[in-house]
Amino acid sequence: MAGLYIHIPFCKQACYYCDFFFSTNQEQRLEIVRAITSEIALQKDYLDGEILETIYFGGGTPSILMPSELNEIFEAVHRNFAVSDRPEVTLEANPDDLTNKKLEALHDAGINRLSVGIQSFDDSVLKSLNRAHDNLMARCCVEDARKAGFENISIDLIYAIPQRPDEDWQKDINHALEINPEHISSYSLTIEEKTAFGKWTKQGKMKPVDDDLSARQLSLLIDSLESANYEQYEVSNFSKPGFQSMHNSNYWKSKKYLGVGPSAHSYNGESRQYNVSNNASYLRSIQQEKIPCTLEVLTKHDKINEYLLTTLRTSWGADLKIMREKFFFDPIKENYDYIQSLHGKGLIVVEGDILKLTRNGRFLADKIASDLFVVGDWE
Ligand code: SF4
Repeated sequence: MAGLYIHIPFCKQACYYCDFFFSTNQEQRLEIVRAITSEIALQKDYLDGEILETIYFGGGTPSILMPSELNEIFEAVHRNFAVSDRPEVTLEANPDDLTNKKLEALHDAGINRLSVGIQSFDDSVLKSLNRAHDNLMARCCVEDARKAGFENISIDLIYAIPQRPDEDWQKDINHALEINPEHISSYSLTIEEKTAFGKWTKQGKMKPVDDDLSARQLSLLIDSLESANYEQYEVSNFSKPGFQSMHNSNYWKSKKYLGVGPSAHSYNGESRQYNVSNNASYLRSIQQEKIPCTLEVLTKHDKINEYLLTTLRTSWGADLKIMREKFFFDPIKENYDYIQSLHGKGLIVVEGDILKLTRNGRFLADKIASDLFVVGDWE
């Protein structure tokens, strides 16, 4: 079983913090949709005949697609891949696109999971991020999606906005709990160099993100969501029982996936492929029936390090048996003293063959994983 990611590289406007690949000029939208359908055909052997169990429309803003464009893509998927009987089909959506008519069309087209970019319920915050929606749209879209038949809804929230008090963040969490989504993804604001926020921070017009504020607000989030029966199954992802994102979980379980569209990535267990992040170059290349990608063949070190980096962020942790059998590597043997010291500080536990971080350890997941990385000439 494998996954398919489809990148829709268009947005209505640029959010000040965002460094994903997108264009606000939608003139080439239909051309890109058609090129994506061509790429799906060109890449039909990438997954070696594995059945698709998840399809994920990301971006950019996939909810700006017309239902007819979405259907063209679905037809191409079904022409070229075997799809499981009940695939998880997610579409990232912005609240301002979700009219009742659009929601019904998305549901009829076969989308069964919506991931809504709410980010905040506070109008002043939404304005400061340059989001295209307001609080009212954020609240209504989830209710409207329910009426259209969606039973699996995720929302995104952003915390650690510089100088935003914890009380205001707690209000956002409370609003999120009121609308009762099955899944919540929440990320600390990060200031990326090539964004408006990056520029303003460099010019001293904006304060950088404060790590203490970020840790405190993540802690508030975990407390509130755990009391409301959500499980933190990955550092930034929380779900009610049975509603973990299958698509994203498969990334963290190192399953194969194909990514199509400009800037999309693919992974087949041995290498990663990165499509070009430029709409014009993408179109030119696909017209010549060439995949516009660069290839990175993964070394043994890459595979071990990626496995540690992704699994230590999850509630299921790193499987030592898999590491020994697949990579001939045992992180405990190689880092005995370090792991003992983490254990002594209550940051890590070993349960049988599973190495996983505790709640406190997960705050430091990326640092701990990188401390365990294989570097140099280990064999
Ligand atoms: S955050 Fe989403 S809507 Fe905003 S610019 Fe980025 S991709 Fe587009």
